[in-house]
Amino acid sequence: MEHKQTINFGAGPAKLPPSVLLQAQNELLNYSGTGISVLEMSHRSSDFNKIINKTESLLRELLNIPDNYKVLFLQGGGSGQFSSVPLNLIGLKEDRCADYLVTGTWSAKAAKEAEKYGKVNVVHPKLDSYTKIPDPSSWTLNPSASYVYYCSNETVHGVEYNFTPETNGVVLVSDMSSNFLSRPVDVSKFGLIFAGAQKNVGCAGVTVVIVREDLLGHALKECPIVLDYKVQAEMNSLYNTPPCFSIYIMSLVLEWIKNNGGSAAMEMLNKQKSSMIYDIINASNGFYVCPVDTACRSRMNVPFRVGKKEGDEALEKEFLDGASKRGMISLKGHRSVGGIRASLYNAVTLEDTKALADYMKEFLKDHQ
Ligand code: PLP
Repeated sequence: MEHKQTINFGAGPAKLPPSVLLQAQNELLNYSGTGISVLEMSHRSSDFNKIINKTESLLRELLNIPDNYKVLFLQGGGSGQFSSVPLNLIGLKEDRCADYLVTGTWSAKAAKEAEKYGKVNVVHPKLDSYTKIPDPSSWTLNPSASYVYYCSNETVHGVEYNFTPETNGVVLVSDMSSNFLSRPVDVSKFGLIFAGAQKNVGCAGVTVVIVREDLLGHALKECPIVLDYKVQAEMNSLYNTPPCFSIYIMSLVLEWIKNNGGSAAMEMLNKQKSSMIYDIINASNGFYVCPVDTACRSRMNVPFRVGKKEGDEALEKEFLDGASKRGMISLKGHRSVGGIRASLYNAVTLEDTKALADYMKEFLKDHQ
């Protein structure tokens, strides 16, 4: 079948709003009458200063970030933060220990990295598979922990928290890389939030860190200077050359989110889109199978198998081939779990999702 356009359901780097790409294209050679591209602009120039300040003020507005929080634009990706978080925060208390919730690949990696810098306590019984969030009544939080860490959306396994963990006053840290600005969040409940931009708020290269001011200045002495939040906060993220173009793209995406109703409007759309897919899975009589508990199914990444619980690989290949003929790309599940994964970030529209839903219904009909 001929397709008119490509729909990108990739998990990241992911689809950007076409209007953002067009604006970036229009401004590529001559940004705002400067005669040069953002790609060529000094990070110490007043023009770039305006870009980074605008990006920060849009973020503050969209997330209602309280004044006692710093917003940083850093390099090293989400993985860089797996190191930066313990390097900066595990020394908050003498014991140098941290509580981790491990509900998927990304929190597991973060916990492993933190073990280099202190004691890590996984607060719940070990999970056999990453398909649920253990009930908070089974958690053993350590009151002397420097912080409690969790990943609010596990991109590989499609497990998302629909609540904010209660920590009895211990600093809460969250990796929101794959659901950042997909729904409103009460920043005041957190000590630190971080998110790589390449899923919901821009392109690869920049990672946002939102950190409460009183947590700055506790870095371990071996913390590399570029990873030290206090240094970066004091220098407005300009200790060294920041990822200028990625920050600029983020400013365009944030403007797009604002013009489209902000995080509350994103949440409504994301609920609608994900329900459209989960409803088909639920009504398919076991033809499509999502292994994740209904209470924590992600609105951002919908993983499912085709044909049977453990997936029929031939059918899954046929499903992916058919999707690709219809212009729907990057639906293959993460290599560690297989199957299919549809990522429905903010820039994926209702129409895009409907195209996938229609295809899933048609494929089901043809194979029943
Ligand atoms: N955290 C989450 C939730 C992710 O999905 C990813 C990557 O997909 C990462 C962290 C790692 O990000 P990066 O590749 O930018 O290091």
